[in-house]
Amino acid sequence: MDKKLAGKVAVVTGASKGIGAAIARRLAAEGAAVVVNYASSKSGAGKVVADIESAGGKAVAVQGDVAKKADIERLLAEGVAAFGTIDILVNNAGIYEGEPLGEITEENFHRQFNLNVLGLILTTQEAVKHFGPAGGSIVNVSSVVSTLCPAGTAAYNATKAAVDSLTRTFAKELGVRKIRINSVNPGPIETEGTHSAGMVEPFQAFAAITPLGRIGQPDDIAPAVVFLASPDSGWITGETLYVTGGLH
Ligand code: NAP
Repeated sequence: MDKKLAGKVAVVTGASKGIGAAIARRLAAEGAAVVVNYASSKSGAGKVVADIESAGGKAVAVQGDVAKKADIERLLAEGVAAFGTIDILVNNAGIYEGEPLGEITEENFHRQFNLNVLGLILTTQEAVKHFGPAGGSIVNVSSVVSTLCPAGTAAYNATKAAVDSLTRTFAKELGVRKIRINSVNPGPIETEGTHSAGMVEPFQAFAAITPLGRIGQPDDIAPAVVFLASPDSGWITGETLYVTGGLH
């Protein structure tokens, strides 16, 4: 059977671990050449590239802080130099710093908004310059927290509400260029990031109220991203797809 993304080029931000790494592997398994972006984990990104190549796919690791415009420009230019164009962008890189109202500071507010919101805007702005006349697909990794609004993570929740808003707005701006843009909104997922933030244990409280009875894994999210990146979702744009085991 033909692979859904044969001949396509995908850029995945924050793909050295966690959800981004699973997305990169799954896009490559469907035939896309993948630009595996990372900020600091060179070895993690290298492992994702090696896994893709050993499975017969194509990938390249490119460092870049996607909260910074100059890094974003370099990342996308290196991606185009490697594979010729961009057809798919996955805005996955994001950080979560849980703090209740009294602990929100200018610093933690800006760290989260600079990457999760401004970085997403700047990466989208730069990537669409490289999309061809046939258009393409952009998938934003948002979160169930954009609407569930759990206590204690207000600033992070607000970044993801902004992501959902950007998805709907940019869908209206980019449709004329045949570029679709959608969000995937995961529920709690066990990743390197949630482990190191000490969140996996507290997530069990969500598992208890999730209809499917568990928290998620990165491979629960990646197929939904492939769907939104592929022609199977060709009439879908501006949507938010909750992938949460029913938690929202
Ligand atoms: P993770 O395990 O912490 O991995 C984060 C990835 O983002 C890493 O590859 C990291 O690269 C990269 N990154 C961090 N800062 C970056 C920057 N400034 N520029 C470029 N890359 C950067 O995270 P995750 O749990 O997989 O989360 C991924 C996305 O899913 C985020 O947008 C998050 O908000 C969203 N999400 C997560 C959950 C969850 O429960 N895990 C639920 C809903 C939504 P380095 O390792 O090189 O630093």
